[in-house]
Amino acid sequence: MTDKLIPCPFCGASAHRGLFKKQGCSLHGDAVQYVRVYCSNPSCPAKPSILGGDIYCGKEEAIQEAIKIWNTRLTTTNGA
Ligand SMILES: [Zn+2]
Repeated sequence: MTDKLIPCPFCGASAHRGLFKKQGCSLHGDAVQYVRVYCSNPSCPAKPSILGGDIYCGKEEAIQEAIKIWNTRLTTTNGA
């Protein structure tokens, strides 16, 4: 387990982590929150951004999932 985010592979800026609210839970009328990891550079050419699991499944797990998706997806985009 780690909470280290690799830098953006497109511009080298550090990655930020935050929460992303997504509308559309028709059962409760509440917005569902996801953990979002994104490039912190507003002028990044690629602006990568990923969403992890929704935090109602467990906030820590959702954060870990988002970190894992960010780190693994960005390191396997070279066809590896
Ligand atoms: Zn970037």
